[in-house]
Amino acid sequence: MRKKLVLFDIDGTLLRVGNINRRTLIDALTEVYGTEGSAGRHNFAGKMDSVIIYEVLRHTGLGERHIAERFEEVKQTYIDLFRERARPEDIELMKGIPALLEELAGRSDMELGLLTGNFEGSGRHKLRLPAIDHYFPFGAFADDAYHRDDLPAIAIEKAYGVTGTRFASGEVVIIGDTEHDIRCSRAIGAHCIAVATGTYPAERLRAHRPDVLFEDFGDTGAVVESIEHF
Ligand SMILES: [Mg+2]
Repeated sequence: MRKKLVLFDIDGTLLRVGNINRRTLIDALTEVYGTEGSAGRHNFAGKMDSVIIYEVLRHTGLGERHIAERFEEVKQTYIDLFRERARPEDIELMKGIPALLEELAGRSDMELGLLTGNFEGSGRHKLRLPAIDHYFPFGAFADDAYHRDDLPAIAIEKAYGVTGTRFASGEVVIIGDTEHDIRCSRAIGAHCIAVATGTYPAERLRAHRPDVLFEDFGDTGAVVESIEHF
């Protein structure tokens, strides 16, 4: 029996984090670079944490080289501050997620992993707070590549390392809430399920032609069935 590799995005798909995420990034940027750039109003949805840092500092006059030189420092500052500050009440799981994860984890024909623009240190903390981290033994994160389109191949490698199964592109299902999730699934010819629980409404996601689109994951059976049918 061939298995399917089911890769979940975090923000807007599994859960929502309160304002603490943006506030923490602003504080880390200010501490390391002396400016928050445009972090107060920037659209973070679907983007890699590393890309966000460069984008919000682009118009500050700081040179790209200067940003790069202190990148590891700002990344670690952000992760440390986030872990220190975030509490379970800052995280809201999306509709249907606990039941869906429980159902998928019990299936012998599916393996679960992460494919996210989060840094691993902060992304894992977002999952630990509502106690869903254990569903995801591996994942591809912003630490692994600069471009989201490179993450699917990395997730397949990590899945191989943990499960011993070498997944073909057609056996991979990427689940996310933005056009960036849809686009990165196309990059390797994987299947894509979009869900409108993040910042993008269903009609905007539909324009990017995901294989399947859900308003939310309230109907566990329907989501599982759509994965089975790929
Ligand atoms: Mg997302």
